[in-house]
Amino acid sequence: MQSTRRTFFKASLGGVAASILGFDLKPAYAQSRELKIGRTTETRSTCPYCSVSCGVIIHTLGDKAKNVTPQVVHVEGDPDHPINRGTLCPKGSSLMQDILNDRRLLKPAVRRPGSDRWEDIGWDQAIEEVARHIKKTRDETFVATDSQGRTVNRCEGIAWNGGCTDTNEFNFLAVKSMRSLGVCYLENQARV
Ligand code: SF4
Repeated sequence: MQSTRRTFFKASLGGVAASILGFDLKPAYAQSRELKIGRTTETRSTCPYCSVSCGVIIHTLGDKAKNVTPQVVHVEGDPDHPINRGTLCPKGSSLMQDILNDRRLLKPAVRRPGSDRWEDIGWDQAIEEVARHIKKTRDETFVATDSQGRTVNRCEGIAWNGGCTDTNEFNFLAVKSMRSLGVCYLENQARV
């Protein structure tokens, strides 16, 4: 069997703990592994939150049968990854909540001017309202030429900020859309 940092830690952690604390923690350690990730499938991936790109292992429970939806039960740093060597910052450590979160928003919501609460609206209404606001703002703030008469064709009244878990494809689409409107204040995690 090929020895890796991960197998080394697996094999030696109990012994190290015993030598430091003076008693054998191997049974407890083995039990906790059994409870949490003992029967899981390990999938190696990359943390999406920042450009450090730490390696993670996603533990999934499910017997791979066609009628079973695999369930993510744990995410941890990959000890064999050359960038992070098993460590994760607080954002990366909370990665499982990005995958499974009962507080995830599933429909559009709007907070009207002056209101102190969010109101659920339908997708059609949201798209219509966003389009209307974009058109109005662009019409009011579009700059065709600068102070020296040079053509610039830029929209200075709109900015776009992408989220760190947006995919490259989504960011590509967003940048194309914003550039077509003349928006120059835009940023996203993919640095497209
Ligand atoms: S774990 Fe933290 S440092 Fe590593 S990629 Fe994720 S956000 Fe960046």
